[in-house]
Amino acid sequence: MLIRIKGAISNCYLLLGEKPVLVDTGAPGDLRTILAALKRRGLAPRDLALILLTHGHSDHAGCAAELRRRSGAQIAMHAGDAGLVRAGRNGVIAVQDTLGRILRPFVDEPFEAFEPDLVFQEGIALEPYGLRGKVLPTPGHTAGSASVVLANGEALIGDVLRGSLVWPNKAREHYFCNDPARNQRSIVRLAREGLLRCHPGTFGSFPGTELGRYLNTDGGDVLELSGETA
Ligand SMILES: [Zn+2]
Repeated sequence: MLIRIKGAISNCYLLLGEKPVLVDTGAPGDLRTILAALKRRGLAPRDLALILLTHGHSDHAGCAAELRRRSGAQIAMHAGDAGLVRAGRNGVIAVQDTLGRILRPFVDEPFEAFEPDLVFQEGIALEPYGLRGKVLPTPGHTAGSASVVLANGEALIGDVLRGSLVWPNKAREHYFCNDPARNQRSIVRLAREGLLRCHPGTFGSFPGTELGRYLNTDGGDVLELSGETA
């Protein structure tokens, strides 16, 4: 089961397999919201088996250090963003549009620095937590962005794309993206998984078919995706 926890800025997700896994930890002020969401499910912080971060921005890693103290769970994340959380800083945030410029000061706040326990390059196995699926590197938004792809066709994609504030079931480009070309390749990688539903870090979820709207149609990626040749 997958539960969305809405923080002040972005979403965290609770994956309830055999052992609960928290994906992302909100912004620094989101601790109470997360603890309340756990409690509503009859869970104490100690029940968390793993804290997995989709990337190292403060609105995703903001409560990671405090939640580790309370839960004893290890924090897993991709090596590419380990430097951000060791510093407790977002580093470079490249804005993509006007709204990004407006929102940036709210997102770009320092957070409690920490040393991640499980730093991966290719991903980590989810089977030990009773979850069927995998963790994929999906860099672009940040160098260390990663997504959780579940065997049931649902995926937690962090900030690879965002949902729409207004329209349900729609994907939008995220306000921030440090390397749009790399992010494009990550979208292709996710699209290849044939996802049914994507759960982003910002706003609501959307069907996997939305990924197709963000593929670069003049590059070779679409041909690769469909398995056709030019
Ligand atoms: Zn982010």
